[in-house]
Amino acid sequence: MPLIVQKYGGTSMAGPERIQAVAKRLLQTQQEGNAVVGIVSAMSGVTNSLIRLAKEITPDPQGRELDMLLATGEQTTIALTAMAIEALGGKAVSMTGAQAGILTDDFYTKAKIDQILPSPIQEHLHAGAIVIVAGFQGETRRGDITTLGRGGSDLTAIALASALHADECHILTDVDGVFTCDPRIVPKAKKIEVIAYEEMLEMASSGSKVMQSRSVEFAKKFNIPFEVRSSFHEARGTIVQSESRGMEQVVVRGISVEGNQAKVTITNVPDHPGCAARIFTAVADAQLVIDVIVQDVSDRGTTNISFTLNSEELNKMGDLLERIALEIGAGSVRKESGIAKLSVVGIGMRTHSGVAAKLFECLARGGINIQMISTSEIKIAVIIDEASIHQAAQLAHTAFGLDRE
Ligand code: ADP
Ligand code: ASP
Ligand code: MG
Repeated sequence: MPLIVQKYGGTSMAGPERIQAVAKRLLQTQQEGNAVVGIVSAMSGVTNSLIRLAKEITPDPQGRELDMLLATGEQTTIALTAMAIEALGGKAVSMTGAQAGILTDDFYTKAKIDQILPSPIQEHLHAGAIVIVAGFQGETRRGDITTLGRGGSDLTAIALASALHADECHILTDVDGVFTCDPRIVPKAKKIEVIAYEEMLEMASSGSKVMQSRSVEFAKKFNIPFEVRSSFHEARGTIVQSESRGMEQVVVRGISVEGNQAKVTITNVPDHPGCAARIFTAVADAQLVIDVIVQDVSDRGTTNISFTLNSEELNKMGDLLERIALEIGAGSVRKESGIAKLSVVGIGMRTHSGVAAKLFECLARGGINIQMISTSEIKIAVIIDEASIHQAAQLAHTAFGLDRE
């Protein structure tokens, strides 16, 4: 019997009627002759409100306790979904991440899956039940609850599809699939039919939060194709799979935007071996995640080094860089928030030229100033003023011929 894994996100679980609709769809999938594992998220807004609640108690909650709290969001929805299936006359069993055999490291709030022991799920499937697993959570080998990073139910679904050798994995959400840009930002964005793992990964890690980037990394590593589609109707969505012939014909597959970024510039850094290492080792030791780095051409023995990071990361930085600048004899440290990143992604860039020129030209026509540029084999990203990011996304979307007719 084919096995189908279906993951339902927060908006799809947002209240009793929505949960009943999810239960109906899971049951229908089983009645069509499949074994079914459903992964569910917390109701939309619940994880955020649990985090807010914790921060009202203490600004810096301990990771173990935070995960204990956050996991309750999904524990609520697994039970409600299983009840809804039973109420429709079906057979269902809810399982926490721990009960489903999801073992992780103890990096609380961003735990990595070490191993999945799928036999408890398989036993329930053999008994004819629809198994409803809590997304976003696992447990350490000591039995402590962990969570897998925001959006982590996507990872639960893909990792379980892999461990159970599922025939299909569906990510059901509140949009019809993966679009050429977030449809809330570019209304003319269109649904992509097929996208390569690598493109989906670049888009997810540069702001297209339709998929958690870690989940796409997992799918790419273990070659788990999946489909992103709407939970509200039956239309086919977007297939995410390994690159196939002909996919390079499309130069730009999609555009991502990421707001809430900040830029740090250290001026007059002595142009000696070891200075950049000193700065970025301190940043890494403080566990700050940085993004685009640019070093200017050296002028009279000094250079300026700039990098971007999320504004929240900047708030955690304190006076770390001022201290390092003093130590290495650099000049001032400038910090600016209110910037954003626009990324243009496509595997076709490997074989086509002129993408950068076209992007810069369309931004110039819109009077948008580029502050930093970064490129990879399949991506060109620019850092611009956050106030212009939506306009920039629309301009680039049109320039690359992605607009819906
Ligand atoms: P879920 O709760 O189902 O996990 P998410 O909110 O995590 O859903 O992801 C779906 C949202 O992702 C959409 O509502 C959309 O606004 C946003 N999104 C961002 N980029 C894209 C994109 N390229 N294509 C589709 N949706 C996107
Ligand atoms: N509920 C978790 C979150 O909001 C996980 C998920 O929805 O995927 O991040
Ligand atoms: Mg999500």
